[in-house]
Amino acid sequence: MKAAILHDYKQPLRIEDVPRPECAADEVLIQVEACGVCHSDLHLAEGGWPQLLSAVTVKKPLVMGHEAVGRVVEKGRDVAQFALGDRVGVAWIYWSCGQCRLCKEGLENLCPRQIITGVTVDGGYAEFVKAKASHVTRVPETLSAQEAAPLFCAGLTVYRSSKKAGIRPGQRVAVFGIGGLGHLAVQVAKSFQAEVIGIDVTEEKLALARSLGADHALNAAAGDFAAQLKKVGGPHVALVTSAAKAAYDLAFSSLRPDGTLAVIGLPAEDLTFPPIVMVARETRIVASSVGTRADLRELLDLAAAGKVRCHSEARPLAQINQVFDDMRHGRILGRVVVRA
Ligand SMILES: [Zn+2]
Ligand SMILES: [Zn+2]
Repeated sequence: MKAAILHDYKQPLRIEDVPRPECAADEVLIQVEACGVCHSDLHLAEGGWPQLLSAVTVKKPLVMGHEAVGRVVEKGRDVAQFALGDRVGVAWIYWSCGQCRLCKEGLENLCPRQIITGVTVDGGYAEFVKAKASHVTRVPETLSAQEAAPLFCAGLTVYRSSKKAGIRPGQRVAVFGIGGLGHLAVQVAKSFQAEVIGIDVTEEKLALARSLGADHALNAAAGDFAAQLKKVGGPHVALVTSAAKAAYDLAFSSLRPDGTLAVIGLPAEDLTFPPIVMVARETRIVASSVGTRADLRELLDLAAAGKVRCHSEARPLAQINQVFDDMRHGRILGRVVVRA
């Protein structure tokens, strides 16, 4: 089968013919119809993610891709819950143990024994990917593979963050950065019945935020940004999907008292917030790590109900290195999915 292979960091992926994976008794083989391209793939390919690289053993050579959706074309003898032809997807969590304290508390996304798709095992930048039947998620037939794939990491991440931030109906929610994650965060926050403020520095992305239901779209680079935001009112919740430290500083200072800052985008440098201001305003800072299978099912239901739709573009897998380059230069609106 055709696959995009990472042999070494800082090298382009190579499109190669490799053997098709074989299913064990508890696995399914999925013919990939679409695989979303995530910023973390770019970081990984560049070897620029020291915390992850020191915590896990990256498989090499590696097929990356942890937003893969397609049809089950083979299954192991113990797999009863899926039939051939079912449409399913594989997310970041390839497997979690189900036995540890965290798994038993419903926090499988924090399981210390977890296996990670497209990092510690091969993922979806290929014609086929194999996966544990216990950890693949069924995709509603009303969603195309292209629509569903980016929900498996980008969508899931902002969905869990929105839950952890405790967004309540009628609250003001500011989304900082209207990229692959942010444009989904706008829709998720709307589905929580919030008043949504989309914030970015490019007009094209602000227009996208408006078209997706943002009640306000503000340009953080505009001279009167602070005045405009003041007119709207300080947000109860700031979902920061931008990886710019400046976006975090802005989000922190713009929150109203009793506000919540949700860490989603990952700047390379550490973030610092003045404790005196946190205390004086009772500011909460929350974070989340991708999401659980239960979160994913809830999100797919929202998408099937038409409340969350990824703005995406499909490109051939063979163009994966150009896609990475477009990501580096911020040339992508929404999300790209690749197909072999
Ligand atoms: Zn991802
Ligand atoms: Zn566990």
